[in-house]
Amino acid sequence: MKLPVFPVEGGCQCRAARYQVTAPPLTVYACWCRDCQRASGTTHTMSMFVRREDVALVAGTLTAYEKAADSGRTVRMMACASCGTRLWNEPLSSPEILVIKPGTLDEMGWAKPVGNIWTDSAPAFAQIDPALVNFPGQPASRQPLFDAWQRAVAAG
Ligand SMILES: [Zn+2]
Ligand SMILES: [Zn+2]
Repeated sequence: MKLPVFPVEGGCQCRAARYQVTAPPLTVYACWCRDCQRASGTTHTMSMFVRREDVALVAGTLTAYEKAADSGRTVRMMACASCGTRLWNEPLSSPEILVIKPGTLDEMGWAKPVGNIWTDSAPAFAQIDPALVNFPGQPASRQPLFDAWQRAVAAG
């Protein structure tokens, strides 16, 4: 995994909302839970954990939608007020963290997931790499996903 030069930028589909990430993320993984499937209209979403202090909204307005996650925690989902593209989630249980949807980055080629969660609700046709750090449901701790990201970055 070769990290880009920070800051990197991203934004929504209509280009009204733009954000900047000033430092490398803590991990990137894929989530196959039913809520991610419904929210995205596809098989899974990707989650990129970043420190809140490392993210700035530089243009546009966001709207919030709060939901109870499959984990039982409350998650605030932040989307562009104009087009509805979801840019990131704010886990209310971890206020120091934002979970960016890396498909909204201008360039996401480097943001390869190191693991998968909620693989039990992946559709039968999904192809999940067994060599990654995988969990059938919600992991008790995300530390293995943070550790796997550090190993991937160290390996270059
Ligand atoms: Zn937009
Ligand atoms: Zn999910």
